[in-house]
Amino acid sequence: MEISKELQDAINDQINFELYSGYIYLSMATWLEEQNLAGMARWMEMQAEEEYEHAMKFYKFVFDRGGRVTMKSIAGPKTEWESPLAIFEEAYGHEKEVSKRIYDIGEMAEKEGDKATESFLKWFYDEQVEEEEQTARIRDLLKMIGDSVPALMQLDARLGARED
Ligand code: FE
Ligand code: CA
Repeated sequence: MEISKELQDAINDQINFELYSGYIYLSMATWLEEQNLAGMARWMEMQAEEEYEHAMKFYKFVFDRGGRVTMKSIAGPKTEWESPLAIFEEAYGHEKEVSKRIYDIGEMAEKEGDKATESFLKWFYDEQVEEEEQTARIRDLLKMIGDSVPALMQLDARLGARED
């Protein structure tokens, strides 16, 4: 069964939003780098790479279902933040928005009885639990750390050790 035009368009928007997410995280990485928080910057660079992988999963799925992928312009991300806490607060909020968009596509697929799309989206439902949990946890740690520079350095080193 070929993918419907409506679902194809929604997934094309999602491809764009995943790439936009990666662009935001890369912009956050540059800001963190400028603050000498190289570990957090590295963590964000890896997050940006993941967003590209997410976009590619949707991209391949549209082709697998006989649909058409259309690239659109990617919105310019913010370039300045107040603090690392503001960054992770925003990243968490952004991931909640990503989850909402993916759930909306899932509802569309359910209404259409498109089982293949429903099944495909399951991976993303699980991934979004991880994305929200990770960003919320780092945000909470930054809240706990407050103004403690040694604690901030310790967290920076830990985040810089991220491997996947
Ligand atoms: Fe994503
Ligand atoms: Ca992830």
